[in-house]
Amino acid sequence: MLNKEAAEKLVDQAVEAHKNAYAPYSNYKVSAALLTKSGKTFTGVNVENAVYPMTICAERAAVVSAVSAGEREFEAIVVVTRDAGTPCGSCRQVLAEFGLDIAVIIADDKGKIHDTTTVGDLLPHSFGQANLDSEG
Ligand SMILES: [Zn+2]
Repeated sequence: MLNKEAAEKLVDQAVEAHKNAYAPYSNYKVSAALLTKSGKTFTGVNVENAVYPMTICAERAAVVSAVSAGEREFEAIVVVTRDAGTPCGSCRQVLAEFGLDIAVIIADDKGKIHDTTTVGDLLPHSFGQANLDSEG
């Protein structure tokens, strides 16, 4: 788990990215900052679309950005919303692909941390690679 200073730095980066969220329909801005085990940070924001299902969440945007840069091992992700909302089911599944032990820090847009948990705690009894590798 991250120490307090590292967690606060990651929260600051997510709060900084928050202004870039594109949420003209829901007006519910979300930003995320994903820390790799190699020490790099990738941010993401929600990007809505007039065709609503085309919307992508901040968490998945951050994961896609990191994986595109060759990173697959993650330490923690901060998710920032106005009311300290938690990641949706789709994002929990996408994060689980890269490890149930990834720390998930829930913060608000003022930078206050409301909860620190893990992907595994957010997605119990998850489906993953091991299921596909199992015999019969
Ligand atoms: Zn999501």
